[in-house]
Amino acid sequence: MKFLLQCPCSGGSAIHPVLLLAIVAAIWLVARWIRLMFRKEGISLMNKAAKILIVVALVAAVVIVIAIKYTKPSADANQPSNQISTPTLPLPKLVDVGAGKCIPCKMMAPILQELKKEYTGRLEVQFIDVWENPAAGDKYGIKLIPTQIFYDASGAERFRHEGFMSKEDILAKWKELGYDFAGHSEVIFDRLKPAHPDSRPKDTICYMCDGDISPKTLVTVRTDKGEVRLCSPHCYFIMYSCLTEDKTGFEKKVSVTDWAMGKLTPAAPALYLYSFNETGRPVIKSFADKQNAQAEQKASGGSIIGWQILLGKELETRCGFCDRAVYPEDAALVKADGLYSWGCCSHCALGVAARTGKDIEVQEKDRLTGEDIIVKTLNGKMASLEPATAVAWFGQRQKPDGAWVSAGCFHQGFFTNADNLKKWVEQNPYETGRLISISQALADKMKLSPQQIQKACKIGECSPK
Ligand SMILES: [Zn+2]
Ligand SMILES: [Zn+2]
Repeated sequence: MKFLLQCPCSGGSAIHPVLLLAIVAAIWLVARWIRLMFRKEGISLMNKAAKILIVVALVAAVVIVIAIKYTKPSADANQPSNQISTPTLPLPKLVDVGAGKCIPCKMMAPILQELKKEYTGRLEVQFIDVWENPAAGDKYGIKLIPTQIFYDASGAERFRHEGFMSKEDILAKWKELGYDFAGHSEVIFDRLKPAHPDSRPKDTICYMCDGDISPKTLVTVRTDKGEVRLCSPHCYFIMYSCLTEDKTGFEKKVSVTDWAMGKLTPAAPALYLYSFNETGRPVIKSFADKQNAQAEQKASGGSIIGWQILLGKELETRCGFCDRAVYPEDAALVKADGLYSWGCCSHCALGVAARTGKDIEVQEKDRLTGEDIIVKTLNGKMASLEPATAVAWFGQRQKPDGAWVSAGCFHQGFFTNADNLKKWVEQNPYETGRLISISQALADKMKLSPQQIQKACKIGECSPK
């Protein structure tokens, strides 16, 4: 038999039957004593009333004290509880102690919101503003803001981290602590074999970009291992910028295709008609003969320049990570410390954070649709991503020994979502690799040593060729 003193939802306890009996007995005794008092003679009415009040108050106080004692939740968790209540499982809790206006705290805010929303009922997320509530900072023993404190379901502190912490790192830490919130919800997509074999004759494929070689812009380089064929002067200069060997007199090995005659001619003495297409991207036409160059200049405009000037223009803009020659029109824009740099590919753009040690903002285009994707980093971690659905394609190739290596800068990219990535992979039958998160792509770059960064994208050091 149980009597409920409180709403079961509030976690109160039932009154013990012995306590109930004591209360009933006390009321009966008081009632009897009052009756006796009124029967006595020689005591004034005022005295009687005062005595009654004192005794009633004393009995009431005793009853209240006993009642409070019994209605306190049991401290012994091992006691089987048979109270009528809805059990709520204790949740692990993430407390972020920060301030509304500190910069890393502001960057934490959307992450906390996402965690709160995505893991409702599985993780409790709390933000405490110490500028508004300084006492809270003392309570948590905070040395700097923001600080994230991880409590397990029993309320024990398991880990704390000072400074900005990315969502990926927070989830990874929870996983380490035994809470796998992210689970298997990640989108996994890969293509490990080309959709169909590349049946193009080898001498029609550019050594650098794997694109088709137009017979009007072919560039060849004589090497010890045979002739290297490139689709254009620009791909030649990319290759040139990736060479680690001594490049003195290198131009003697290079031939370009005469635009008018369609025949190879030595690169150094040739002339170059240099103009721009509608997007501002340079267009280079090579000529062995000045008259042919001038005739084409009359027809299509542009400037006629020599090899050294062309070399200077082509090497002017470099990838901020791997140092290879790049056209800004093809590249990802990278902002670091108010300065602009370029990433020759999306992954190289993230690598600028690793090479410079600075916080960066990358603006790259979806390879399928051209829509903007903006990534911001803080202390080498991804701080924000727009749109949040954006993903990366990690182009990889399998070497004859079975090992997977990067397929090179021409085979990487960002996409606003996984569907765009899949469509692009469908449209590019020879691409192989896998979908990774952009923060993973950043993490891959951040773990490189200075020596590895030095060798990044260098032919013979890093290139899969
Ligand atoms: Zn090429
Ligand atoms: Zn690069």
